Amino acid sequence: MPELPEVETVRRVLKTELIGLSITSIDLLYEPIFENKEAVTDLIGKTYKDILRKGKYLIFCFNEGFLLSHLRMEGKYFYTLEDYPLNKHMHVIIHLNNGYKLIYQDVRKFGRMHYYKTLEELNNDLELGPDANLALDDIDDLYLKIKKSKLPLKSLLLDQSFIAGLGNIYVDEVLYKAKLLPNMPANMISQLDLKNILEASKEILDLAIINKGTTIRSYTSSLGVTGNYQNYLNVHTKDKCPLGHDIISFKIGGRTSYVCPVCQKKPALKIGLTGGIASGKSNVLKVLETWGFKVIDSDKLVKEAYNNSDILNSISNLFNTTDKKEIAEIIFNDEVKRKELENIIHPYVINKIKELSDIDELVFIDIPLLFEAKLEYLVDKIICMSLPLEEEILRLCKRDNIDKDYALKKINSQIPLAEKVKLADYVIDSSGDFKQTKENIKEVIKELIYGIYA
Ligand SMILES: [Zn+2]
Repeated sequence: MPELPEVETVRRVLKTELIGLSITSIDLLYEPIFENKEAVTDLIGKTYKDILRKGKYLIFCFNEGFLLSHLRMEGKYFYTLEDYPLNKHMHVIIHLNNGYKLIYQDVRKFGRMHYYKTLEELNNDLELGPDANLALDDIDDLYLKIKKSKLPLKSLLLDQSFIAGLGNIYVDEVLYKAKLLPNMPANMISQLDLKNILEASKEILDLAIINKGTTIRSYTSSLGVTGNYQNYLNVHTKDKCPLGHDIISFKIGGRTSYVCPVCQKKPALKIGLTGGIASGKSNVLKVLETWGFKVIDSDKLVKEAYNNSDILNSISNLFNTTDKKEIAEIIFNDEVKRKELENIIHPYVINKIKELSDIDELVFIDIPLLFEAKLEYLVDKIICMSLPLEEEILRLCKRDNIDKDYALKKINSQIPLAEKVKLADYVIDSSGDFKQTKENIKEVIKELIYGIYA
C-alpha cells in the first residue's frame, strides 16, 4: 500500500505535469471507483490549479471543485500520450486538452475518488489526524487520545484518524527507531515514548520523501520514478537489524510486523531460565548474550560467593573444607548440611540477582534450581529447558564423567523435569543438536515478545 512518502512523490510528479491543463472528457470504465459518479460531468472543462496531499490522500484542486483520490492498495497514475494503449486494469481515463491523458490503474480496484464542490466538505468527510511527519505540534492532543486507547500501539498508529500517512512499512521503522514493541497496548506508552514516535516519524518520512518512497512494490514507477528508501529500511522485511540482531516477525491485526527483540526490548521483564541438569542452560544463556540480550548467570554468582571471605569462613566452619567437589559430595548425602550451605550462599546470590536485574530492559536470568529454591518471585516469566530423561542421563554422564546410576541419582534429587515444564511459561526443547536448539530459542523469544501483552 502506498504510504505518505509514496503518495507525496506521486503528488510532486503529477503537479509538474498537470497544472494549467484542462479536462476535455472522462471515461469511467469501472464505476465503483468514483464514489459520486453523477459528479463526473462536473469535472469537464475544469482546469488543474494545484495538487495537495493529506495523509495518504491526493487532492486535485481545480479552478472550481476538488477531486479526492485514495490509491488504497494498488492505485497508480499514468500521465501519457493519447495513443497509449489501455489494459483491463485501467479504470478512469481523464482526457486533457494537450493531447495527453491521465490514466488511473488499479489491479485490486480498492482505490476511490470523490468529487467535492468545496474544500470544507472534503475536510469534513476525511476525518484525518495530523500528518505523521508534522504531528509534533499536536503531541498534547495525541497523548490524551493515546491514553484512552487499548489497541496495540501499531494498530493505533495505522489508524488514519489518529495520525495520517503511516502504513505497514513505515510504522515498523518508526517503532524500531522509538524502541517500542508494536504489540504493546497504546495506553501504556509515556509522553516521552510518544515524542520519540513522532520525532522518528518525522525523520523517517522526510527522508523517505527525499528518496521518493520505498520500492518494494512500485507505486510511482508508472510515472517514471523509482523510490530508494528500501535501502534505508532497518527492520521491515529484514533478517537482521542494523546492530546485527535477529529480526522476528509476527502478525498484529492481520499485518506482518517486523521487530528487533533486542533493540525494542521494553518492557523491563525478568525472565528466569531453568530446566534439567545438563539440559544446556548455559549454552542458551551464551546464545542470548551473543544476540544482544542482557543476561545474568547465577552459577557465576555462586562462584563469586565462594570468593567472598565472610562466606568462605562460614563454609569452612561448616564443612572443615572449602573444596567445592568435597562439599558437593557431602551435601549430596546430607540434607541438613545442604540446607545450611544454601542458607549461607543463597542470600548473597539472591541479592546480586536483584541488584543486577533492576534495569529498564528485558533480562534473562539462569537459575538452575529456580523451583527447588522457590525463587519464582525473582522473575516475571519462566523458560524451562526440556529433554528426554535418557538424553539427560547421557549428557550428564559425559559432562561430569560419572556412571548412569549416579547420574540418575543426581537427576532424581531435583524436582522432576515434567513438573518444571508444567510450572514454566515457555519450554525450549533442547533434545536436538545445537542448531535446532537455537531455532527453538528464537521461536520462544518470538512467543515471549508477542505474548508479553497478551
Ligand atoms: Zn537490534
